[in-house]
Amino acid sequence: MVPERYNELLQGLRDAGMRITPQRMAILELLAASQSHPTAAMVYQQLLPRFPTMSQTTVYNTLQTLVNLGLIHELGEAGDAATHYDADTTPHINLICNSCGKIIDLDEQDLMPSIQAVAQQSGFEIRGMRIAYYGLCPTCRHKQKSTH
Ligand code: ZN
Repeated sequence: MVPERYNELLQGLRDAGMRITPQRMAILELLAASQSHPTAAMVYQQLLPRFPTMSQTTVYNTLQTLVNLGLIHELGEAGDAATHYDADTTPHINLICNSCGKIIDLDEQDLMPSIQAVAQQSGFEIRGMRIAYYGLCPTCRHKQKSTH
């Protein structure tokens, strides 16, 4: 887990006036440690053994609050009809596999100048960005080849 990231998320919820419960703290811990772009259902499933009384609505509401605060990004669905969340808000490319729904990050520092260009051309203060490429991951490509 990245402690700075966790504290940032925690402060965000506090500032938004949300009650800091053990469940919410566990959700933030999971997000600060995660590279896996979980859905609300995945977060719920992972925390259920620790918090058997927690509702999926709690997880969903907490994630949506973080999205509204700009602290995490909503990635939309990855071919599995469920919204995925990205705790990494630094500029990077998401590679989404249409077959297994896996989302992989690709750091691409060359994107940085284009943010400035977009800001300049649009007059926007850019607070985040995302680029998604869709396709087949190497594992699924390999599977397709072997079944055909
Ligand atoms: Zn795949």
